[in-house]
Amino acid sequence: MTGKAKPKKHTAKEIASKIDAATTNRGGGKAGLLDRSGVEKGGHAKLECPHCKITAPDLKSMQIHHDARHPKIPFEEAKLVNLHATTSVPESSKPRPGVRGSLKK
Ligand SMILES: [Zn+2]
Repeated sequence: MTGKAKPKKHTAKEIASKIDAATTNRGGGKAGLLDRSGVEKGGHAKLECPHCKITAPDLKSMQIHHDARHPKIPFEEAKLVNLHATTSVPESSKPRPGVRGSLKK
């Protein structure tokens, strides 16, 4: 015997970090879907649905949205509105919360 081994019970800090990992919203799953699709934040979305004007950060998200919302309409990448490509016409685009400060005046 070389003396007592260190106790291996969980520390409060360890448990707290596990609870944190399990309960904190890290942008995944259904809870984070709105965040990632840019519906609420509107600032970093790239594509806009031509049918309902919802925005998505990438083509894959938009395709998922399209399949869910417009299953009767064929998905056409060319019809999507690329918001990053049309940022040079601020007059015609609707106000976007979260990017107000980035516009040069
Ligand atoms: Zn849509």
